[in-house]
Amino acid sequence: MTEEWVQECLEKAGAYAATGVCDHCLGRAFAKKGTGLTDLKRGQILRAAMKEQGTDLAPQSPCPLCEDIFDLVPRFAQAVAAKVDTVESDNFLVGCRIDPETLKREKAYWEQYGLTDTAEPLKTELNREVGKVALPTINRAVEFVEPQVVACVDTRFADVTLDLAPVFIAGRYNKLSREIPQTMWPCRVCHGKGCPRCHGTGKMYLTSVQEIIGEPALEMTKGKEHFFHGMGREDIDACMLGSGRPFILEISNPQVRRIDLDELEKQANDSVLAQFHGLHFVPHRMVAIYKGSDPDKTYRARVSTDDKVNKERVDEVALSFKNVHLAQRTPQRVAHRRADLVRDRMIYWVKAENVEEESFDLVMKTQSGTYVKEFVSGDEGRTTPNFSAALGIQCTVEALDVLEIDFQETED
Ligand SMILES: [Zn+2]
Ligand SMILES: [Zn+2]
Repeated sequence: MTEEWVQECLEKAGAYAATGVCDHCLGRAFAKKGTGLTDLKRGQILRAAMKEQGTDLAPQSPCPLCEDIFDLVPRFAQAVAAKVDTVESDNFLVGCRIDPETLKREKAYWEQYGLTDTAEPLKTELNREVGKVALPTINRAVEFVEPQVVACVDTRFADVTLDLAPVFIAGRYNKLSREIPQTMWPCRVCHGKGCPRCHGTGKMYLTSVQEIIGEPALEMTKGKEHFFHGMGREDIDACMLGSGRPFILEISNPQVRRIDLDELEKQANDSVLAQFHGLHFVPHRMVAIYKGSDPDKTYRARVSTDDKVNKERVDEVALSFKNVHLAQRTPQRVAHRRADLVRDRMIYWVKAENVEEESFDLVMKTQSGTYVKEFVSGDEGRTTPNFSAALGIQCTVEALDVLEIDFQETED
């Protein structure tokens, strides 16, 4: 009548149970046998089977392994529920921190009685049991893969700390100012502490795209810090126009997750320096996708020339750049922070507009990573071919705007 797994375990279980362990600890030692049962139930079944065979081994109190820690499960669960209740989330997970002495003892038992291959850790059982009892009170789903809240119980003090997963908000921004950077830029002199150089602000610039949306988001989520993950970045003196640049705003330690994104957009868009649209929540993994994207870009460059130009000639040169490969050596202006390499970059097309006597606009679509200013100027021969050489007149970019970034968000 006895089930097969019970038969298989009885011999080892007998020797181990003689130490006086409780039913939880007995059952947990054979967690990989007799599946579909709680550890407690499995322990009870094994103990009853032993008794039937004439070995009546009662558990000691307290249990020499776990010291009856499972008696405290209701208390832990209550503490977890109370703490989780202080934050908003869709799901949660329980984690336990167990006295290292207990863990050491457990390991010694598994080794001594040859249970290492069939046992599950005390921590696993305790997490599960506390979660089970807390669940009806918390009334949120248990999430194992990407929990929004991990309630960690320190079992020595029944003390609960919350680990809140960051919240990620994606969208696109337009940068309408040539005077602010994309991200916060700490003062070079004081590194953020505040000094005369930065007039006590701790920053090189009064604000940034990041802060314009990050500050209201921080307030709404009651979070700790904001981080900005842009899909590339434009120079400080460049505007980001058109449909904007994709970005993800990360807020750490948010007490509130499901904020009203329309309201956030409205607050951020009070700024005249930057504008935001298309805000939506994304999972953490999208950050790597955004950071790893190399989208093609369309630019508008305001160009001045060292000599008079005529419209026909400028048009002709512009049209000659159709799917042209550039050999671009690292520009002089960034050589101090980038490896000196020659990169192959593609110019898809160039269009001239607003041609005046000594100036014109170039609208152009380029491969990701193209140094546009250097394509126009030639960077003293470091970029070939280049617009200046083709025109036969030295050209300089006076202002550069990004008009379009080719990016379609997909879930994978
Ligand atoms: Zn025990
Ligand atoms: Zn400073």
